[in-house]
Amino acid sequence: MPRSELQLVRAALGEALSLMFPTACAGCDLRDVSLCDECRHLLVPQVRERDVAGLVVRSGTDFGGVPARVLRALKADGRTGLARALAPALAAAAAGWSRPDVVVVAVPTSRAAMRRRGYRVAELLARRAGLRPRRLLTTTRAVADQRGLGRGARAGNVSGSMRAARRLDGVRVLIVDDVVTTGATLAEATRALQAAGAVPVGAATVASTARRRARFDDRIGNARQIGGG
Ligand SMILES: [Zn+2]
Repeated sequence: MPRSELQLVRAALGEALSLMFPTACAGCDLRDVSLCDECRHLLVPQVRERDVAGLVVRSGTDFGGVPARVLRALKADGRTGLARALAPALAAAAAGWSRPDVVVVAVPTSRAAMRRRGYRVAELLARRAGLRPRRLLTTTRAVADQRGLGRGARAGNVSGSMRAARRLDGVRVLIVDDVVTTGATLAEATRALQAAGAVPVGAATVASTARRRARFDDRIGNARQIGGG
């Protein structure tokens, strides 16, 4: 089916579904819209940078408030259409590395998450951001849900849980994920890629927890409170 027809069918399906299941804004619960203009505006990228185990990590927005709610709706409620609204944040974070010699690798989805959701969040976001993610990392064992685990426990939980699909000697890679919190997952992806000979040049995520930024704000004497999610 030609792309335009496919889009028409999708749009019609979306309308039919919205009649059966009334939607609400993923950011603020406003009715009959999947994402309202005000919340969409809060997803406009503002790239921030941090360091995770020597790797430069850039994120398009803070993981709090509306961006966090929209990400959760995508991950937990199956609202895959929201990936399009989150994609500009990831695209902005990845922009400095978009070169033909840099291969994009999405953080792999565990089998359990794949069973639960039926789609790969990081890969979906990367696609919507116009990147071309390659499946060069796989998970080697199940890891417990990272939520509710502290920094040390998270690192131990994911340590040794990924493996490169093949040798990648000298291949420059950009690692892509939805959110960076403690950085344990990105550190493990970096380790697995380096073990296969790859050279990670950085990581890009849609959002980042505000921890680093709060610390920076403290340093410049700005006691602004950052709402976390
Ligand atoms: Zn809204």
